[in-house]
Amino acid sequence: MVSRSKNIGDMNSPFRYNGLSKEQRDIAKAADEFCLDKFCPRLKNRMIVRVIGKLGYLDRKLLYAECEYTDDSPEERYFRIHIDTDMGIYLFLETLMHEMVHVKQFAKGEMKDYIRTDNLVRWHKEKIDIFKTDYWDYPWEIEAHGRERGLVVQFKAKYPMWAEILEEYKE
Ligand SMILES: [Zn+2]
Repeated sequence: MVSRSKNIGDMNSPFRYNGLSKEQRDIAKAADEFCLDKFCPRLKNRMIVRVIGKLGYLDRKLLYAECEYTDDSPEERYFRIHIDTDMGIYLFLETLMHEMVHVKQFAKGEMKDYIRTDNLVRWHKEKIDIFKTDYWDYPWEIEAHGRERGLVVQFKAKYPMWAEILEEYKE
């Protein structure tokens, strides 16, 4: 029998965190776990999700967050979520949930970038030209924006402790 102390760091965990406050890291871990268990539990041990907090990301990139996928190895799908750390915990969670929907889309092969053509994205069986389509019409964004709130609601139902903390921050 092997018992592992949490302090040593769980190498089997698919999650890595950089640049987040303790509270952001704690809620991110719970939310990431929640999303993978919900969306793709069987892929979980072949994935790494790294959440990288960046102060001022919003100002520089006009984005709250971004999800980057490196698919060098199908054995170990590697995702990086860059996220602005300068936001309240509620918006932080909702933003992370949004990005985790994109993680799910890539992990399950629902969405795929074409390597040779920057402007084309495969969504299920469709080819979407991102230069000719408005951001709000991207089907992957429709799904992510449509799901982010519901995921927070479900997360709060599952973790009453976080629900309480989130309530205090919600404007
Ligand atoms: Zn998005």
